[in-house]
Amino acid sequence: MPLPAHGRPVEDVLRDLDALAADDKDFRGGRTFGLVFHVDAQFERAIHAAHDRFLWHNALSVDAFPSLRQMQADVVDIATSLMGGEAVVAAGGEAAGFMTSGGTESILLAVEGAKVRARRDRGIERPNIVLPTSAHAAFDKACSYFSLESRRVAVRDDWRADVDAMANAVDDDTVLLVGSAPQYPQGVVDPIPAIAAIAAERGISCHSDACMGGFVLPFLERLGATIPPWDFRVEGVTSISADLHKYAYVPKGASVLIHRSKALRRDHTFLFDGWLGGVYGSSGILGTKPGGPIAAAWASLQLLGADGFATQVGRAVEVRERLVAGVRGVPGLDVVGEPEATMAAIYSPDASVDVFAVHDLLSGRGWHLDRQGPPDSLHATCTPVQVDVVDDLVADIADAVTHLSGARTEDRSTRYSSF
Ligand SMILES: *Cc1c(COP(=O)(O)O)cnc(C)c1O
Repeated sequence: MPLPAHGRPVEDVLRDLDALAADDKDFRGGRTFGLVFHVDAQFERAIHAAHDRFLWHNALSVDAFPSLRQMQADVVDIATSLMGGEAVVAAGGEAAGFMTSGGTESILLAVEGAKVRARRDRGIERPNIVLPTSAHAAFDKACSYFSLESRRVAVRDDWRADVDAMANAVDDDTVLLVGSAPQYPQGVVDPIPAIAAIAAERGISCHSDACMGGFVLPFLERLGATIPPWDFRVEGVTSISADLHKYAYVPKGASVLIHRSKALRRDHTFLFDGWLGGVYGSSGILGTKPGGPIAAAWASLQLLGADGFATQVGRAVEVRERLVAGVRGVPGLDVVGEPEATMAAIYSPDASVDVFAVHDLLSGRGWHLDRQGPPDSLHATCTPVQVDVVDDLVADIADAVTHLSGARTEDRSTRYSSF
């Protein structure tokens, strides 16, 4: 499209934007089982107000905007205490972290930090990382960006990390071991204590990826669920990522990366003073960094509080439970493994139903679920707003299966993301 020769009236421009959004999936109505994490309209208005106040701020320099320094410190502080920070303090340490733009940035920095640490402390020049096939693709992005070898190890039958196989993949050049709490594809929590034990024994960094679970598992535990340990209470875990723009219901652009110590955090900060523009110091990948997500994250934690989080986690888990029970009632369908938190993957154990064909019918009815695999499955990330619609989704799934009566689609592609 050419740049308009003359500026246009705001009403016209906004009308065009609304028209552009006409075919977008309805996340406010709970149709997207993934991508957007929504509570309700009232909460959305409050977050908008907070975000708007800092929409133009720039966290590139917190000297100019001490508000952003304080809010980031508060968010990291709260996240640290939710994620076993008191165990670090009890051991005489001091956990430290930064807010980042998202899970991918948190992971990129964790991998880079592990590489720098291993080069300095162990003289490692050809670093590798060892991780299960279930760990997020962003770890391979990090390896590609920062020149590390990725050693992916097949998961066990229960879709959790195979710790013995991971131990076998470790060698003298391994700089990082990874586990997820929970992992994305099937929603199960990896045996982090066993992974961290291998790392600790060999002086290797260990990242617990709680991008999904960071603001879910602490409250699930408070609601009485038994969750295998995954945070700083596990000795050997050196860093944790947790996304605020997922289950802290913040608009996109907010995550935290927390390290067991300030020294570990220093390994991925960047300082350069050979530039005519002056000293360039930054905590992460971004230079200019938006203030809106920081303020929204701070506001969300204050608006919800511990009891609010517990309520929302309870709702999201109820959605997952009703989805799993509903799907298990549809002939030919099941859920992969035994998901522990707020995600589930739907598949057909005897292949009598083509879940990708089901996907296409659901998509036609306005639902969004990801096609993933292997195995061929539909991924659902469950959020609080969906308590009102999950039964409709199950009904549409059952309908689709009946309608297809065994028909398949040619298209076997999977899609987590696109550009
Ligand atoms: C979402 C997610 C990530 C990546 O986070 P982005 O915010 O999408 O960059 C990493 N790990 C897990 C387990 C995730 O669910």
